[in-house]
Amino acid sequence: MSTATSGGPSLPQERRLVTEIPGPRSRELFARKQSAVPPGIGTTLPVFVTQAGGGVVVDADGNSLIDFGSGIAVTSVGNAAPHVVERVRRQVGEFTHTCFMVTPYESYVRVCEKLNAITPGDHEKRTFLVNSGAEAVENAVKVARHATGRQAVVVFDHGYHGRTLLTMSLTAKNMPYKHRFGPFAPEVYRVPLAYPFRWPTGPENCAEEAAAQAIDMINKQIGAENVAAVVIEPIAGEGGFIVPARGFLPRVLEFCRANGIVFVADEVQTGFARTGAMFACEDEGIVPDIITTAKGIAGGLPLAAVTGRAELLDAVHVGGLGGTYGGNPLACEAALGVLETIEEEDLVARASRIGELMLPRLHALRERYPVVGDVRGRGAMTAIELVVPGTREPNPAAAAEIAKRCHAEGLVVLTAGTYGNVLRFLPPLVIPEHLIDEGLTILEKAIESH
Ligand SMILES: *Cc1c(COP(=O)(O)O)cnc(C)c1O
Repeated sequence: MSTATSGGPSLPQERRLVTEIPGPRSRELFARKQSAVPPGIGTTLPVFVTQAGGGVVVDADGNSLIDFGSGIAVTSVGNAAPHVVERVRRQVGEFTHTCFMVTPYESYVRVCEKLNAITPGDHEKRTFLVNSGAEAVENAVKVARHATGRQAVVVFDHGYHGRTLLTMSLTAKNMPYKHRFGPFAPEVYRVPLAYPFRWPTGPENCAEEAAAQAIDMINKQIGAENVAAVVIEPIAGEGGFIVPARGFLPRVLEFCRANGIVFVADEVQTGFARTGAMFACEDEGIVPDIITTAKGIAGGLPLAAVTGRAELLDAVHVGGLGGTYGGNPLACEAALGVLETIEEEDLVARASRIGELMLPRLHALRERYPVVGDVRGRGAMTAIELVVPGTREPNPAAAAEIAKRCHAEGLVVLTAGTYGNVLRFLPPLVIPEHLIDEGLTILEKAIESH
């Protein structure tokens, strides 16, 4: 199947720099990008990719970069993973679209059956498919409002849920996501998140105090009986890989259960083996009423899903949900290929192993370099938060500078965080261990010399 020029896992698993980064060919393409594409579509690292697979991306100048980004937690099974490639190739020659709402096909139903089976909880579930994470979150809110007859939606500090009007309104951070894009959707309320590193009275009290504050705000400012849904990421992604203090999520869930509020877990970034469990909710035994998934679901083909309690999803009238492309047949085949790959290669365990390799080395960096204020994450979703040494003051300049140095050395890393001061690491779960090692060495040198 693979030829000398194809991407995927057959690509040499090595860092190889043959030009400066970006090289001349990428610079030429970037100049064309700047005249054809608006600057609102930003660029983290201006190398133009020609192939990718395993733990590397190869650019137009022949450089091979170590991938600690997975296209933002998307290519968890690796780029051009064999099961994905085979299934999509076969499907593209059969048919590419009928619209599932016009004349359905089996692969869509199969993906839904699988998601109903593997998401947390053994209650009766339903799933429907859409095109993006934002669309999934927006639909989860539609379902929760319809099923409860209530309007308010509660979200959290540092939350990120997308860029459409509703999901931008659910998102916490102004710049770059919301700035001058208002007015925002109504009936969205934001409450504190249990952010251990920045909790004013310290991490020990964080879970209890944050939950108490959030619940008090809901009761006093909205009225629990007016709340349709609480929407929360089990680990805040764009907000800075914030793992809520243990006990916070169960307390919020308990409050939702007691008040007839739909608990929506936004696992768009944390899903599909990324955190060392199939879903991040499993860590504290959280069983959400609705779970939204996207990024890791289909190897990069556009697909997202809303999975939830049958009685909630079945409440919506016939024709009330959907979209022209939702559950495209190529994307459904890709998702089935992803699920086969996760199972066959035991990528849940691989994600845990990646965490075991990375976290001790990241903690060692924190001991050695006072610019590293916090280390956190689970499995193959880890991060460091950078501070002004000796303080907890956010240091976005250091994050930008260190990321730039990593990029120049051929390591793809991403930044994140409300304060822009977090470096996050999301390698494909199939990355060879020697590349993790080499990537961390590059990171350490970049921190040392920044
Ligand atoms: C990326 C992301 C989204 C939005 O997904 P898109 O596919 O970019 O629309 C929503 N929620 C979370 C937690 C995300 O990380």
